[in-house]
Amino acid sequence: MSISEPPARFADLQSIDDPVFRRAGIRCSILRLDTFSSYANGNKFFKLKQNILQAKAQGFTRMLSFGGAFSNHIHALALAGRHFGISTVGIVRGDNLSVLNPTLTDAAAAGMELQFISRQDYKRRNDADFLNYVRGQYPDCFVVPEGGSNVLGVQGCMEIIDHIHSHEVGRGGLIVVPCGTAATLAGIAAACDNGEKVLGFSVLKNSHYLDAEVEKFIADLSIESRDNWTISHDYHCGGYAKLSTELVSFIDKFEQQHNIPIEPVYTGKMLFGLHQMLQLPQQSIAAGTHVIAVHTGGLQGGRGMVEKMQRKRMSIASPK
Ligand SMILES: *Cc1c(COP(=O)(O)O)cnc(C)c1O
Repeated sequence: MSISEPPARFADLQSIDDPVFRRAGIRCSILRLDTFSSYANGNKFFKLKQNILQAKAQGFTRMLSFGGAFSNHIHALALAGRHFGISTVGIVRGDNLSVLNPTLTDAAAAGMELQFISRQDYKRRNDADFLNYVRGQYPDCFVVPEGGSNVLGVQGCMEIIDHIHSHEVGRGGLIVVPCGTAATLAGIAAACDNGEKVLGFSVLKNSHYLDAEVEKFIADLSIESRDNWTISHDYHCGGYAKLSTELVSFIDKFEQQHNIPIEPVYTGKMLFGLHQMLQLPQQSIAAGTHVIAVHTGGLQGGRGMVEKMQRKRMSIASPK
């Protein structure tokens, strides 16, 4: 893929035929944010877009942000920076990375300057004094928070609705999305039509605070609060980037059946949760609903999960 290739105008909405949905009388389509842009991945494209425009408008030529070693956000920032002619700095959690992993190799190849910091320092990434210190070290940088989860990120995610509505069958559905910080969900909920609803699946354990975060993100947009969204907290599989054998079996089967690549941290976990939910005796999604599940990308970060998934498969093959 060439970075100069323009992104497709709208993401595909791919209908899937799946027995679990069919039995519940529910149509399901996947919004393919994983394939629509050649230079920035999935929802991180939307979370960065307004940040980049703002940085440019304010005359910045360098952007800085934070992320883990397999961060989709760091990867997207590096590639978007190269595309838009902005230099980038990635502050990366972990000071013991002697060999760059595929994510950081790509980021460095796109011209990103990488600065590694200890896990302890990384915890302070949102503290005012730490940010002042970072700004002192990189005085000419437009600073974006981890994951691109600021009000500009939420504004960018409002555009995801345009991609859904660009399809004839794309109106009036139940939009389903994985949640890390829930900024993506907040943007979608803020931009929905009347009658459309959003269901998030949290990929984190003990994440009930996300509900208040969504309220805050929406309030930051200076619009009325919305009651068109909910977040399920029941399908995190043990926590962020944690796997269960059921999750891995589901992903393997889903990829085989539908020929759509997914990863286990976000989209795979969301689809697993949705599948589980639909099989509950009293599941709450009405027959006739069109479920539009947002594939938020993240396949590059999934490269960091290959071995972990393989270990789960081995434990399925030979139960103790
Ligand atoms: C970052 C990320 C998310 C989570 O987005 P939030 O706005 O933080 O909820 C979901 N999917 C993928 C692939 C991501 O990289």
